[in-house]
Amino acid sequence: MQPVPHLYPLLESRRNIVITMHQKPDGDAMGAALGLYHFLVSIGNEVTVISPTNWAKFLNWMPGCKFVIDYEVNTQKSIELLNSADILFCLDFNSMHRTKKMETPLLGIKCVKVLIDHHEQPAEEHFDYGVSNILKSSTCEMVYDFIVQSPFADKLNLEMAACLYTGIMTDTGSFRFAVTSAETHKAVAHLKELGLDHSIIHENIYDNFLESRLRFIGNALLNRLEVLYEYNTALMAISRRDLLKYEIQTGDTEGLVNYLLTIEGIKLGALLIDRTEERKWSFRSKGDFDVNELARKHFEGGGHKNAAGGRSSEALEDELKRFKEVIKKYENHLQ
Ligand code: 5GP
Ligand code: MN
Repeated sequence: MQPVPHLYPLLESRRNIVITMHQKPDGDAMGAALGLYHFLVSIGNEVTVISPTNWAKFLNWMPGCKFVIDYEVNTQKSIELLNSADILFCLDFNSMHRTKKMETPLLGIKCVKVLIDHHEQPAEEHFDYGVSNILKSSTCEMVYDFIVQSPFADKLNLEMAACLYTGIMTDTGSFRFAVTSAETHKAVAHLKELGLDHSIIHENIYDNFLESRLRFIGNALLNRLEVLYEYNTALMAISRRDLLKYEIQTGDTEGLVNYLLTIEGIKLGALLIDRTEERKWSFRSKGDFDVNELARKHFEGGGHKNAAGGRSSEALEDELKRFKEVIKKYENHLQ
């Protein structure tokens, strides 16, 4: 994988570029894709963003979001675009299986492939150019660096700023997680100098849900929470029935896992959700407990040290039992 500065000359003439990100893109994945989209368009390229799946409604306000293609809805068109791409950018994931059904087409196409990502253990062999840095707060901060370190840094504008701020803010938990660095704050200061209105972005992301989502959270906290004090672990499992009863949509469960760590002394929060096709884990930890390792070893997943995800094909109840067995092995690490 060559360093990304070697790529800049390739972007100077009109290229067909596809940008993609992980399935169910969050604020960072969508923000990075759209921030980069506006930048690459501004220097004269033909650019399309293809998302592997749908995304949360609270991202729809983002400039350019209406042009994003959902691979599952427009598969044929997406494949044509991928086949005619000169360059593919992969953002906020580092292993092709995180794009679900897009994995096979992505591995099959022969264009120049570029990685910009901050997760652990990148599958570097799939990429020609790239930057992978787990010390970065967000992929949006990395796209910001990519833009300001390029010969076209003067193209950075308010549209890009709004997209990039979204991912920096959401991936740092509004600037509280340990990955938030002086560089992160300097980048945001620069975006503010361009005229960024940050408070409207917080409102768009966090104050834009239906009543049913709040009632769903109330029910989950009251009736679906289990605290395993002997392991300093809080656990929550959400059934299909709950998702249907409260008409839960993509994005509505984001942030739910963070409540688990708000209990004094809790070091590990684990949320299991019964998505129809699989059971999906979200893990969060405080301090030294490494949920990336836990997810990789036992739950077919990965991510970062303090925030990771995983999956399972087991039934919800069976998977919960399995979790309770697995954490017995980690008893010492959780004290
Ligand atoms: P979340 O719990 O918010 O879905 O994900 C937390 C972090 O773990 C994110 O950085 C996300 O990209 C990563 N992650 C979530 N699910 C998976 C997974 O199945 N595999 C891997 N490798 N990473 C995941
Ligand atoms: Mn991210």
